[in-house]
Amino acid sequence: KELGKNRYVHYDADLDARAVEHAQLAADLSHALERDELHLLYQPVVDLPSGQVVGVEALVRWNHPRDGMVSPMRFIPVAERTGLIVPLGEWILRTACQQAAQWIREYGADALSRISVNVSARQLLEPTLPQTVASVLAETGLDPAQLTVEITETAVFGGGRAAETVAAIHALGVSIALDDFGTGHSSLGLLRTCPVDVLKVDKSFVDGVTGTVEQEAIVTSIIEIAQALGLHAIAEGVETGAQADRLHTLGYRLAQGFHFAKPLRATEIESLITSNGDGCATAA
Ligand code: C2E
Ligand code: MG
Ligand code: MG
Ligand code: MG
Repeated sequence: KELGKNRYVHYDADLDARAVEHAQLAADLSHALERDELHLLYQPVVDLPSGQVVGVEALVRWNHPRDGMVSPMRFIPVAERTGLIVPLGEWILRTACQQAAQWIREYGADALSRISVNVSARQLLEPTLPQTVASVLAETGLDPAQLTVEITETAVFGGGRAAETVAAIHALGVSIALDDFGTGHSSLGLLRTCPVDVLKVDKSFVDGVTGTVEQEAIVTSIIEIAQALGLHAIAEGVETGAQADRLHTLGYRLAQGFHFAKPLRATEIESLITSNGDGCATAA
């Protein structure tokens, strides 16, 4: 607290440098869309029993002209603070839905049945978000049942009418996934107040599935909660075959992670689909 107060009194070169860097990043980001510096990658979601790709999660990438690839962990928070996430998020949603609709038209819903899009706290503060989602679906012809919106608990508790906004999106027939499940302060409380369909089990828990009995117990408890509430569970950040096998044994059906595939370019997803998911069929 002391430090927090003094920060604004004393000159802090480090803080100053960070503020300048942040402002520069925000300025660069404001032109990124029009300059065509953003694109989406798609990470396969795999059915553990069959090894087939059943869906993808869209993940945004920024190829900065000078700095190269900037992580979304760095620029999404900047976009949130400046409000730029609103137009950016709409572009992400439209691009992802267009791409999924095209894949489904071309390869059929058996080859790829759903796409997941991350939506951040600031976007949920926009009361018009459900309308935006509805128009994007109408425009692209994607079936609402083929879209999942990923939210975090922090986003729902971020204030305003975020929970109502989530409910309105759900009412369109879109699925709601709770991202990074278990890492927040009230993940279970949220299951009562929000219409959640999917739990995305955070990598930090998945890492422990081949660890101690206690660590495994957490992963087991989460699948039990999901089953009891009739929700799907997706294990995130699966990096080894041993983890995939163990998750399958514990009752998990769906997983995502480098063990199956990294986030891929659209063309790479197409090769994967046309090879019938062979490239991904490393699951149990
Ligand atoms: P997330 O939604 O939880 O996405 C999962 C992150 O884990 C992705 O990082 C993905 O590349 C990474 N990952 C997947 N499998 C593995 C694995 O086996 N091992 C490891 N170490 N990592 C794995 P990414 O793409 O850097 O995204 C980071 C976060 O940035 C996302 O976390 C999400 O919160 C946010 N983000 C990414 N794209 C978007 C977007 O389009 N919109 C919004 N609002 N946020 C986004
Ligand atoms: Mg996500
Ligand atoms: Mg996650
Ligand atoms: Mg995460």
